[in-house]
Amino acid sequence: MKASKKCPHCAQWSVWQRNPTDRCEHCHNLLDPAAAERLKAQAQRKTEENNRFTVDFIQIDPQDSAFTKFYKGIGLGFQLAFVGIMSFILWLIALLAG
Ligand SMILES: [Zn+2]
Repeated sequence: MKASKKCPHCAQWSVWQRNPTDRCEHCHNLLDPAAAERLKAQAQRKTEENNRFTVDFIQIDPQDSAFTKFYKGIGLGFQLAFVGIMSFILWLIALLAG
């Protein structure tokens, strides 16, 4: 079923697929600028969330000296512990929220 929407820019009726990215047939402006904004904000928030929970693990190179391997190992241990605690907290939140 085709819907139509009155363009907020030129006040003409235009075919609307109910997508936030739909544009007016007459003036090619966004039919629903608020929805497009919302979509953009949503995508941005998702990116930020992904960045927050991504940990770059330390890579231990076989060429590293014993000392480098030792302190990299300690760093990696902390990272793994951190990820483990974070996962546990997220799991706990999900459990309590459910
Ligand atoms: Zn228009």
